[in-house]
Amino acid sequence: MMRKQFFAGAKSAALGGAALLLAFSAVILFAYNTFQDNIGTVQAPQPVASRWASLPVTWLLNPYIPPSQDNVNTSGCAIAPSSCIQQSLANGFTTWISATVNIQGTPQSLTDLSASYGGTSSVQTPDVTDCKNVVGFSDSASDFSTGTVAFTELATVTASQYSCSDGTIKACPSGSCIADADIEFNPTENFTISNSPPSGTFSLQSVATHEEGHLLGMDHSGIGHTVMFPFGDTTATGQQLALASDDAIGISSLYPCVNPASGPSCTAKFSTATGKISGTVTLNSAGTFGAHVVAIDTATGDVVTDGLTAPDGSYTLVGVPPGNYNVLVLPLAPDANSGIILLDDFSGWECGYGDSNCSNIPQNPTNYTGRFF
Ligand SMILES: [Zn+2]
Repeated sequence: MMRKQFFAGAKSAALGGAALLLAFSAVILFAYNTFQDNIGTVQAPQPVASRWASLPVTWLLNPYIPPSQDNVNTSGCAIAPSSCIQQSLANGFTTWISATVNIQGTPQSLTDLSASYGGTSSVQTPDVTDCKNVVGFSDSASDFSTGTVAFTELATVTASQYSCSDGTIKACPSGSCIADADIEFNPTENFTISNSPPSGTFSLQSVATHEEGHLLGMDHSGIGHTVMFPFGDTTATGQQLALASDDAIGISSLYPCVNPASGPSCTAKFSTATGKISGTVTLNSAGTFGAHVVAIDTATGDVVTDGLTAPDGSYTLVGVPPGNYNVLVLPLAPDANSGIILLDDFSGWECGYGDSNCSNIPQNPTNYTGRFF
C-alpha cells in the first residue's frame, strides 16, 4: 500500500485583527515536545509549551459531508449519522480527559483537562482568526497534500490579550496560549465510525484522537504506537484508540492536576506524583540540538516517555513516574531542504522506538501507510 500522510502537529496559522490590542503573535506551535521548525525562533534554553488558558476547551462540528465525497461510513449507526460522527469525535476528547499515568502500579489521573461540545458550525475552511474550534469534513481536497488524511491548524498567542475576528477580547494570562484550532478530515479518504475498520479505511475516532491531541497542544511522539506517533495505517492494528504512557504524561504536563479534591477525575497532583529526568546530550563536547531522548523503565523495559533536546543540548523529561530508567538518545533525520533538523519530523523513525512491528531501528517505512499531521 502507498504511504499516506496524516497531518501532523500544526499548520502555520496567521491570526489577524487585534487592532486595538496587542497583535497576535502568530507562530507555528508545537506543545509538549515544544519546538518550532525554524531554529531561529526556538525559545532557548527550553521550549515553552502552548496550551489553552481556560477550560473546558469547546469544539464545534461541521457535520456536512459533500454527497460526492460520501467518505464517512456510518453504517450501524442507530441514530442520526451526524450524531454518530459527533460521538466518535467526542470519544477522542474523552480519551484525553480520561488519561491516566501508572504511578507505582496504580493508574492515576494527573490532569484536570476538560472539553465540551459546543454545537454545529457551517464553517468549511479552517479559520484560525475566529476563535472557534471547528472539526469538519468538507474542506477542499486541494488543502491536503498527497496522502494527507487529516490535519489540525492552530494559532497561538503570547500577548496578554488578543481579539478574535468578531471583536471578542480574550486573555492569555501567561506563557503561550492556543487561540484557535481547527481539524479537517480529507474528503477523499475513507473513514468509518466503526473502531474495527475494514482494510483501507480509517477509524474516525482513531484519527480524531490524534488530531484532537494537537488541538489540545500535543506535538508528535517518536515512540511507536502512541496516539501522537505521526504515522499510521489502515489496518486495525495500526490505529490507536488508547493513550500510551507518553501521551498520558504529555497531556498531564499541559493540564496538570493541581488540586485532586477539586475535580471528579483528577486523583493525584501532577507535580508531586511525578518527577523529572534531565541532562545534556553532547557530541564532540558540543550540545546536540534536536536529539530524541527516550526514557525506558529498567524494571519493565517499557518506553515511558520521550522528548527532544533544546538548542544547547539540554533536555528535561517531565511527568516521569517514580522508578528507575535508562535514557536512550537517538538522532533525528536532517531535513533535505534546509539542512536542519525538522523537530517534529520523525521521518527517520517511521516505526518509532519500541515498535514491535518493525525489525530494526530506524525501520521500514512501508509498515505504515499514513502519516498524521
Ligand atoms: Zn499529527
